[in-house]
Amino acid sequence: MPHRMLFESEAYDYPLGQKLLSFAKEHKIPHRTIPAHNRVTGLPGASAQQKYSQAKKTIVVGLKKDLRFQSCRPSADYQFPLMTSCPGHCEYCYLQTTLGQRPYLRVYVNIEEILEQASKYVEKNSPSITTFEVASSGDPLSIEHLTGSLGQTISFFGQLPLGRLRFVTKFTYVDPLLSLDHQGHCRFRFSLNSNRVVEHFEHHTASIEERIEASVKVAKAGYPLGFIIAPIMLYPGWFEEYGQMIEKLKKGLEEVKTFSVPISFELIQHRFTTKAKKVILERFPDSQLDLEESQRKLKFGKYGVSKYVYKKEEAQLIEEKLSELILKAFPTATIEYFT
Ligand code: SF4
Repeated sequence: MPHRMLFESEAYDYPLGQKLLSFAKEHKIPHRTIPAHNRVTGLPGASAQQKYSQAKKTIVVGLKKDLRFQSCRPSADYQFPLMTSCPGHCEYCYLQTTLGQRPYLRVYVNIEEILEQASKYVEKNSPSITTFEVASSGDPLSIEHLTGSLGQTISFFGQLPLGRLRFVTKFTYVDPLLSLDHQGHCRFRFSLNSNRVVEHFEHHTASIEERIEASVKVAKAGYPLGFIIAPIMLYPGWFEEYGQMIEKLKKGLEEVKTFSVPISFELIQHRFTTKAKKVILERFPDSQLDLEESQRKLKFGKYGVSKYVYKKEEAQLIEEKLSELILKAFPTATIEYFT
């Protein structure tokens, strides 16, 4: 439940804008009109921690004006802009830097225009299949109970023979999506991690048990299912704890008799940038995240952004050991990549 909702004036011209305005009125959520999302002022909070926490309780309702979809390798062909940010407080979140001083949630109400644009990309790429990642700038399931936009998008892609959708989530509001005519065109992925990582770093998100329970529901509804294990962290006992999580997953999924397609896994090791470290330590001064540069290897990125990743031998160890655990528990699964 948001603590405040800010509306760009053009948002009132769209059905979703009106729906969200009625929601704010009905639930007596403070709301007001703002000139533009990047001119949000007056959010409460004195310290960086308070500002972050209050921003994560704020929803800005507006339009997605730039409809040029960005590339999204290695997960998909393009990013799909449905919303931005999420109410979670994961300490390591990549959005700490990409959203910088604007971590509030943004909801885009011109959904019809966004969907039409997606179908143009699909058409242009025909006869190849075009894949879109909905979770590249936030967690779309985290506010689905307010917008219904993800459900609308899944139904739309159900009618696109060459369009595919995928997203990853740490939330569990899946029930209204189970009966949609998805045609197997949307892959649901749940983010998983070891107990220690979830407990220490993934604040305000669903528990691993709840995520596994939701994954069983979507698998039973015939959706292609996947898991992203990220960020994978090395610490004393890491292998045992990741093993326990995979076992828990195996046990949870036992009640699913058949899967529409093999389960996929994506493996991402923990990484951080110098900029991220600064922002994280402002927002979480007591963070126990391992952000020690001297213990890592600097990896030069595509866009001139260098990241600290695990040293080569450690990264190899993570890849080998986790792949082993996964394939032992799920022999027909595919491991799409390790990065
Ligand atoms: S749930 Fe995902 S998007 Fe939200 S804070 Fe955590 S890592 Fe970031």
